[in-house]
Amino acid sequence: MLDVEKIRKDFPILGQQVYGKPLVYLDNGATTQKPTIVLETIERLYNKENSNVHRGVHHLSNVTTENYEAARKTVQDFIHAEHAHEIIFTHGTTSSINAVAFSFGERYVQAGDEIIVSGMEHHANIVPWQMLCERKGAILKVLPVTEKGDLQLEKLDDLISEKTKLLAVTQVSNVLGTINPVKKIVKIAHAHNVPVLIDGAQGIQHEKTDVQETDCDFYVFSGHKIYGPTGIGVLYGKEKWLNEMPPYQGGGDMIKKVTFEKTIYEDLPLKFEAGTMNYIGAIGLGKAIEYLQKTGFDDIIAREQELEEYATSRLMQIPGLRIFGTSDHKTGIVSFLIGDIHPYDTGMILDKLGVAVRTGHHCAEPLVESYGITGTVRASFAFYNTKEEVDILYNALLKVIEMLG
Ligand code: PLP
Repeated sequence: MLDVEKIRKDFPILGQQVYGKPLVYLDNGATTQKPTIVLETIERLYNKENSNVHRGVHHLSNVTTENYEAARKTVQDFIHAEHAHEIIFTHGTTSSINAVAFSFGERYVQAGDEIIVSGMEHHANIVPWQMLCERKGAILKVLPVTEKGDLQLEKLDDLISEKTKLLAVTQVSNVLGTINPVKKIVKIAHAHNVPVLIDGAQGIQHEKTDVQETDCDFYVFSGHKIYGPTGIGVLYGKEKWLNEMPPYQGGGDMIKKVTFEKTIYEDLPLKFEAGTMNYIGAIGLGKAIEYLQKTGFDDIIAREQELEEYATSRLMQIPGLRIFGTSDHKTGIVSFLIGDIHPYDTGMILDKLGVAVRTGHHCAEPLVESYGITGTVRASFAFYNTKEEVDILYNALLKVIEMLG
């Protein structure tokens, strides 16, 4: 069992008031707050240890390089990758997906080939593939979603053809909260020799991730959504792919030898880490992961599921409220609308009552529009949230109805 009172003290930002009301932060899907240990680590690094990695012969550079590589190992263990060099640091999920779309695309995709995404993807897992398709004359295909918010997996076999080069799918929907059966999806795709990229932006913090068990070919996530700093992210790729794929950026640190005639690239992971990396962010991310493990990741997962279920049961008591995403496998996210009240109006009033939620299409316009709407209100939970906060949300929504309903 988690001691939530104690946990909340680890997140100083949560203790504040907005408009004279205690802050109820339910926008964790957009970004999570940072525990003191991460903030102190960043401060310590800049105050005492800062130096560029992989470059110096001096003490500070060696210390920071060791910490940076230790963070890579922490990420490797956390997602259970086979090798540390399969962990590439990037700026976040978006840059990881763009890196694969460019690099994998350059190596493997040609005119007439096909890429499959699902109908519930974030723009970050649509647009880079569209750009690849435009560049190469390839075709983007879409696996449809049911009204409840589940993938129509029975259609996958037929959607895949001998032209399919890659399938990209989210682990957890950022709008619906659906947990997708990624292991099953990988199995189907692999039966057709199609590699799979999993967008873990909303999954890494709510689910135990094991890339070897899932057998996915690529897995990507952002540090800031898992209590780490902004501007750092991860691209995991199986060694066999990463070795074959060309670098997507050239510059310092990713080379073995440069002459004006030819450059020989570094081995993994440095081949994909051109220029000065966000090493402070990577070390901060490592600390965030250590914090979650120390707190008890299994308990964190269970608590977030419990909060989602409690919020769903409370919100369903509100007359005229419709929840989008009613899959049997959900976590962390409840998206809704009340009658014909515009989500933005609901969000504005909630804000004045101290409740922070997200409104709009959540960067998943095709999915949101498939419900015949332009946006929802989204409450997204972290393990530091409480049932009392859900009750505050519930009461605040009654107030919204009183004012606008
Ligand atoms: N994929 C999903 C499912 C997301 O929810 C998000 C962000 O909300 C992203 C990708 C993009 O993440 P980032 O902006 O950190 O690159």
